[in-house]
Amino acid sequence: MPKAYEAGKVEQKWYKFWLDKGYFTPKIDPKKKPFVIIMPPPNVTGELHIGHALTATLEDIMIRWHRMRGEPTLWLPGVDHAGIATQVVVEQMLAKEGVDRHKLGREKTQARIKQWAESRRQKIARQHQRLGASCDWGRERYTLDEGPSRAVRTAFVRLYEKGLIYRGERIINWCPRCATALSDLETDHKDIQGNLYYVRYPLEGGKEFITVATTRPETILGDTAVAVNPRDKRYKAMVGKKAILPAVRRTVPIIADEAVDPEFGTGAVKITPAHDPVDFEMAQRNDLPLVNILNPDVTMNENAGPYKGMDRFECRQAILDDLKKEGLLVKVEPYGHSVGHCMRCQTVIEPIASQQWFINTKPLAEPAIKAVTNGRISIIPERFNKVYLNWMENIRDWCISRQLWWGHRIPVWYCRDCGEVTVSVDEPKTCSKCGSSNIEQDPDVLDTWFSSALWTHSTLGWPDDTEDLGYFYPTTVMETGYDILFFWVARMIMMGLEDTGDIPFSTVYLHGLLRDEKGEKMSKVRGNVVDPLDTIAEYGTDALRFALTSDISPGNDIKLTPSRLEAGRNFANKLWNATRFVVRSFEQDPDIEFKQDRLTLEDRWILSRLSGTIANVARLMANFQFGEAQRQLHDFLWGEFCDWYIEFVKIRLNSGEGPSPLPVLVHTLETSLRLLHPFMPFVTEELWQNLKQRLPDGWAETESIMVADYPEADKKAIDPQAERVMEAVIEIVHAVRNARAEHKVESGRWVEAQVCAGGLTPAIAAYSPAIETLARARPVSFLESRGEAPDENVLALVLKSSEVIIPMESMVDLKAERKRLGQEIAQTGAEVARLETRLKDKAFLTKAPPAVVAKERDKLAEKKDRLERLKQSLDRLG
Ligand SMILES: [Zn+2]
Ligand SMILES: [Zn+2]
Repeated sequence: MPKAYEAGKVEQKWYKFWLDKGYFTPKIDPKKKPFVIIMPPPNVTGELHIGHALTATLEDIMIRWHRMRGEPTLWLPGVDHAGIATQVVVEQMLAKEGVDRHKLGREKTQARIKQWAESRRQKIARQHQRLGASCDWGRERYTLDEGPSRAVRTAFVRLYEKGLIYRGERIINWCPRCATALSDLETDHKDIQGNLYYVRYPLEGGKEFITVATTRPETILGDTAVAVNPRDKRYKAMVGKKAILPAVRRTVPIIADEAVDPEFGTGAVKITPAHDPVDFEMAQRNDLPLVNILNPDVTMNENAGPYKGMDRFECRQAILDDLKKEGLLVKVEPYGHSVGHCMRCQTVIEPIASQQWFINTKPLAEPAIKAVTNGRISIIPERFNKVYLNWMENIRDWCISRQLWWGHRIPVWYCRDCGEVTVSVDEPKTCSKCGSSNIEQDPDVLDTWFSSALWTHSTLGWPDDTEDLGYFYPTTVMETGYDILFFWVARMIMMGLEDTGDIPFSTVYLHGLLRDEKGEKMSKVRGNVVDPLDTIAEYGTDALRFALTSDISPGNDIKLTPSRLEAGRNFANKLWNATRFVVRSFEQDPDIEFKQDRLTLEDRWILSRLSGTIANVARLMANFQFGEAQRQLHDFLWGEFCDWYIEFVKIRLNSGEGPSPLPVLVHTLETSLRLLHPFMPFVTEELWQNLKQRLPDGWAETESIMVADYPEADKKAIDPQAERVMEAVIEIVHAVRNARAEHKVESGRWVEAQVCAGGLTPAIAAYSPAIETLARARPVSFLESRGEAPDENVLALVLKSSEVIIPMESMVDLKAERKRLGQEIAQTGAEVARLETRLKDKAFLTKAPPAVVAKERDKLAEKKDRLERLKQSLDRLG
């Protein structure tokens, strides 16, 4: 075995080996229940970022674990066409070439996007492979593939025929930059500081005015009423009269509606049904007309009269100027309010009444609510149940049409002759009513999330009754970030239940967001993004995976720090060195036959600890506590196996006495590697193969660790007595080492130790050679009782199951130590005095920030404590 582990040399070799062997493809076995994860499809737009690496790592841990447990395991990868995001990127590329997509035309633009997306798609697959993702590439799906596309059209037609998809004029969120409608979820609401403008509307046929308040004065041009609350006495006499809109001079009625809040502004509100969702509803109730004043590029249209052609914000200023001139602007108040912004490009959203396709979601939400409340679907962590239910119970209709070219075109055809609407899975040649061939398909495409909502069943072959759908659906775990609980998870539950009559998955595991060392969200703007491939090149894939899942727990955000990456790399190196040690031991005595009656106490201890660790890991994995499972595995392998067991074994080998440690070394290492494999697949395979080639035939039957059995705890191996004794031995060595460090004992010097351990004494005494070597303590003697040792001039260490007494003179030169302590006491005493003076100083106390004062107080307490301990040490020296 080479001296050091080089991740870069082995990772791709093993991935290819697994792939060639077909391990990623499950065998359908009707007698066994499969374990299935459908991978959240990354957007075809970009390269994999660190968030994808986290998703892939968590899913791969689950997948490898279940596969090793002998379950038919499917992890189905895929890619999303990401409608709006992809089109925006390609449009920008075209713009750089000086090409406008409208001039290029729909077909040519689509071809360009397709070509680009295809190249990205392959890159994404390669990147996933670098992460070790053991998914079934033979089943990889793309949202625009024929199968998933037919699923989209089928789902649309079924919902339409049930009356759950409709076309209607509603207020939608319009992004003028992206030139498309967006769903509510795709808009970010930001609080901004704006103004509230109070504007007078003259009443028709008189000198009276009614004053309204608005944050968007340009929308005056689209008003179709002024509304007041029917119980508002101030305006009772005005209801039924007409007001004249300033600037355009149109008259609008003054109406009464319960929805008006008399406390807001003046109590009279302007109604702009085409540009405000609340006003839209009021217009429906009161039969008011809609006046749209905006073009799709948010310049003012012909309804804006003299302002036609102006940009919306330019128009706002022009109107304000005109109102001021006419004396109609009463006052302007600063006013903080929430404004929708496009999630993708951060442009201010314009609410616009527009003809769009919608899903009536309420009937779909009902079963989706039930599936969670009756426990058929569990969400981890549980606190997201409430978030999910709250959203579902208040769900609003989902606008699914997008004015884009990239995506699934809406399967609706309009007849130019009779106006009939034909909705069909397959492209019709003629109108379903009059038979005319003069028909035209709806130009819009569907929201990308519509196809994502079908992802759990469309990838398995739905609407066809395929073998995959029958066997792998419902899937087992949906693992994704909590930030797309509504966008995706909730909609998959609705559509899965609607299309198949069954839940899409039984468990939702939500992971948190990745943050940097300082706890900041990673983003391109902040410049703190970590590229997974660069990280792999520097630390190795296993180290990246280790760092990503260190400390991870469901729903909580994760910090990715360089120290965690280093810890992952160091751990791989530690395992490498331990395996080299075991491999070298083969040369001395290749017999690895396990003889129960030939086990030493430390053998029984490590086997007991191994069994305990296996049981804990199994329990933690079943509870989705992957971070804690990994931590316990790490602590066992590093803290017990490498740091202690192997050290004890070395002493045994040097003494030439006792049974060969090889059987236990091999058993513990081989089992631990299998236990760790789902977390760090590459280094475990490399080490396992190194072991395997030295093992006799029949010892490890599989060709790869990834298809070997996952270890199960052996209850018989649990040995509390061995654990108690070895813990005591380790504790003693630890305590002596700490005492040496604290008293700055030179490494070559032997110290004396007297141990008093009650009933454990005989068992511990058998380990005195080990204690001597590991703690550099000689002689180590054992006392019947504490009373046998002196109290003066000793360091007495009270431990959990023993007491260790070290004569001070065996550690230090008493005279020199007294002098050293004396100096340190004087120095610490001076610092205490200085801090006390400072903390009595009124000027300091009043001027310094509270945090600084608190810090000084802490420092004082710490120094006082140290002073006390130094004095005690000096006392002990007599
Ligand atoms: Zn936008
Ligand atoms: Zn027709």
